[in-house]
Amino acid sequence: MKTCEKFARIQAQYTRETTYLLNHATSRRGTRAANLSAGLARASRNSMAKSLSTHVSNCLICG
Ligand SMILES: [Zn+2]
Repeated sequence: MKTCEKFARIQAQYTRETTYLLNHATSRRGTRAANLSAGLARASRNSMAKSLSTHVSNCLICG
């Protein structure tokens, strides 16, 4: 599948956020803060999937 620059930008942004949250969760494993971060990382991944699929259905290059 061919994707455009905007697709890559959306993906990179969410990937960075998710990676940050997962690192945070790993470094505080077993704490409330870690559980919160892990939950946010999952939410961020879901948002990424939603944003990307919305983008693909509206984009001439990606679609
Ligand atoms: Zn696109």
